[in-house]
Amino acid sequence: QKLDNYRPTKVVVNLEAIRNNVKNLNSYLGSKTSIIAVVKADGYGHGEVEVALAALEAGAMMVSVATPDEAVRLRMAGISGDILVMGPSPVSFAKKAAELSITVTVSDVGWIQEVLHENKCFAQTLKVHVKIDSGMGRIGLRDVETLHSLVAVVSSSQQIALDGIFTHFSCADEESSVVTELQYKMFMDLVNTLPEKPRLVHASNSAATLLYPQYALDAIRFGISLYGMAPSKYVGEKLPFNLERSLELHSELAYVKLLSKGSAISYGGTYITTGEEWIGTIPIGYADGLRRGLKGQEVLIGGKRVPIVGTICMDQCMVKLPGNMPIGEQVVFIGHQGTEEVTMEEWAEKLDTIPYEITVSIAKRVPRVYL
Ligand code: PLP
Repeated sequence: QKLDNYRPTKVVVNLEAIRNNVKNLNSYLGSKTSIIAVVKADGYGHGEVEVALAALEAGAMMVSVATPDEAVRLRMAGISGDILVMGPSPVSFAKKAAELSITVTVSDVGWIQEVLHENKCFAQTLKVHVKIDSGMGRIGLRDVETLHSLVAVVSSSQQIALDGIFTHFSCADEESSVVTELQYKMFMDLVNTLPEKPRLVHASNSAATLLYPQYALDAIRFGISLYGMAPSKYVGEKLPFNLERSLELHSELAYVKLLSKGSAISYGGTYITTGEEWIGTIPIGYADGLRRGLKGQEVLIGGKRVPIVGTICMDQCMVKLPGNMPIGEQVVFIGHQGTEEVTMEEWAEKLDTIPYEITVSIAKRVPRVYL
């Protein structure tokens, strides 16, 4: 049974924006390249199941996640398409993966041997994608000998099927294309040594997809831009098609009072009113993802930008209002109001981080509402 939300703080997810991003991406890619919608980390904070369904409905070929548990959750929620776990899976997950038709990433011959040793017979073939480390320095094999011995072990088994091979770019969102070119070459040099290519050869993340259509191959893995954000400022200036933002963070004024000059606001009294000031309290704090470093950040009320004043508390924060305003007045922390907009990029800049970190840090206790 779904509980009512009494607290007005909520994330508003526009699934139509996600569907439009998939459709526009499909037109841009053409028929040779398929879309893998990246829905790890709870769909970058948007809700993994809802986003997976929307992306698949709009034309994505499969979804990918980072962890085995994320994949199992999606399958249990009724996602019936292909699901790829891009991160490492323990040997103990192989049986479950085969049972639920979840594709896992492998990059180690020993892993496959152990899996075969421990499982004499799977319910269904275990599908794997081989991960090549072309320069990221994370999981993945790097040399042709390891690749060939891994493929040999897979080919000799009826139990495991090689469905794909992929790599991940480390600098595709930057202005210089040098590293990406080197990574692509290293990856393709390895892929081209295979007598038979698997069904899906894929390399590009959002940045590479948007900047380097020549690296599109059989599929691309679209993460941050599925949600309407550019991977970096640089990529944002070079977009080949428009991206629609899919997340807003809203709340309401819960309390309003007029304070006299010299009143201290919040922990540590770091903000002191400089005259008579209307101060509003909003039920959102750092436990919701409104990080303390966002003190001074502007929010939108009545179509205007107003600053957060004083230290952000765990569950509440205060703003300086332009005048008296009613309880229940809408407050936009991320998103639009009138002609004004506050973006995740603005928060990211203030917090010296990237929009990725903002979107995944909006806490679970903030309900997601779907348009
Ligand atoms: N592929 C892999 C292996 C990843 O780890 C990620 C996310 O970091 C992506 C694709 C998606 O990247 P992006 O969100 O930049 O599109």
